[in-house]
Amino acid sequence: MSQRIYYYSTNRNLGGIPGVVPWKKTVSFREALLHGQAPDEGLFMPDPIPVIPIQSIMALQGKPYTRAAMLVATAFLADEISREVLEKIVAESYNYPVPLERVVDRKYIMRLDQGPTASFKDFAARMMARLMSYFRDPGKRLNVLVATSGDTGSAVGEAFKGVEGIDVYILYPKSEVSGRQKKQLDTIGENVQAISVLGKFDDCQNLVKQAFSDPSLTDFNLTSANSINFGRILPQIIYYIYAYSQLAGAGEEIVFSVPSGNFGDALGCEYARRMGLPVKRLVMPTNENDEFPKFLETGVYEKISPSRACLSSAMNVGHPSNLARFFDLYGGTVDRGGAVHIYPDINEMRRRIFSVSITDEETRKTIKRTYDQHGFLLEPHGAVGWRGLEVYLERYGDFPLCVSIETAHPAKFPDEIEGLLGISPELPESMKGIDQKKGKPFALSASYENFKDYLKSNLKVRS
Ligand SMILES: *Cc1c(COP(=O)(O)O)cnc(C)c1O
Repeated sequence: MSQRIYYYSTNRNLGGIPGVVPWKKTVSFREALLHGQAPDEGLFMPDPIPVIPIQSIMALQGKPYTRAAMLVATAFLADEISREVLEKIVAESYNYPVPLERVVDRKYIMRLDQGPTASFKDFAARMMARLMSYFRDPGKRLNVLVATSGDTGSAVGEAFKGVEGIDVYILYPKSEVSGRQKKQLDTIGENVQAISVLGKFDDCQNLVKQAFSDPSLTDFNLTSANSINFGRILPQIIYYIYAYSQLAGAGEEIVFSVPSGNFGDALGCEYARRMGLPVKRLVMPTNENDEFPKFLETGVYEKISPSRACLSSAMNVGHPSNLARFFDLYGGTVDRGGAVHIYPDINEMRRRIFSVSITDEETRKTIKRTYDQHGFLLEPHGAVGWRGLEVYLERYGDFPLCVSIETAHPAKFPDEIEGLLGISPELPESMKGIDQKKGKPFALSASYENFKDYLKSNLKVRS
């Protein structure tokens, strides 16, 4: 029997802050998944972090992705879910390819852009949705509310589509999403309902927040599929282990470069290393939101507020939500507002992590150069990752085995690619035909009373 893993809060040592009562208990994975956040608003952290023997990782060589997923998932969940159920969850979650493409020498790009919404967020959202379905209270329907400004909503919506016992309501600002994004959100269908709000993203977020704290809605079993849920971090450990097993010689070290916004993706790599993966260095390039590379350089953390609008828009983050987890792993504490209460061991962090800010101009140049030199097509997020890797290698010397992550499909950025390269990238298989699909959102004003009426007359309690 494996060791039982419990989940504690990153805020457990946070004393003396008005309104914060540090929560010093622990919960199971199930509770961490269904609650999303600790009672003191800290993030859940697994303890102990399970270790996977390198022989088990090497045994994945040439095997399908689902085998790597089982190895990682059982390391965390063996005590809470049977092997048969996990096999089913994993098979349903990962039914699309995970290409590892060689760019030059042994430098690779791992394409995490082949899922239903052509974003790496599919990996985490699909597994989390199925775990939630399994762990929900029997007989009670779970109602997931999501406010979105675009991409996260469709990844979460697609992930929950057809999942038993769960309904999803996605609120988006009517005039702030692009035509294609609106199509993606409106046409998911089945148990996923799009709600087009006459207002801004902030209005959507406020409606959802009010609903969560409204005692008259308690019976509806509302939940969020929020990005700080540990259920979204666990699946993001898998692809690092998979990539290593397919490319490395036994015990060989590897460098990963992960374009970073809220640091959830990079956190997956940090956990993979702590589980035993021989990661030489984790490269975490950011766009012009450079609070983290500045911190590693100066030792002083200052968030950026408001965040800077860059080409790699999914990484426009001025205070990464998962920084709290990175700080905790290195012995520090930072709160949700960005105040550091205990500084982490920065020298240890510098030994393990390299971070650099990539400007929009460098991002564009990288897209053009990798295409011209290597015939390799990147979109803005993946270009930040690749350029970050190049800077790392320039500064620390060449390293044989490197993998950079492509987090979205270039066809999601047709104007930028067309402008730079004069070609229009073909839509991935999963998104073909999207423009012809039909769907009807429910239209809503930004008033909470109307939203509440809508919920009360539409939400199901039992299933
Ligand atoms: C969300 C996102 C990122 C950033 O990932 P984090 O886990 O927030 O660091 C990068 N690229 C794309 C395309 C994304 O959607």
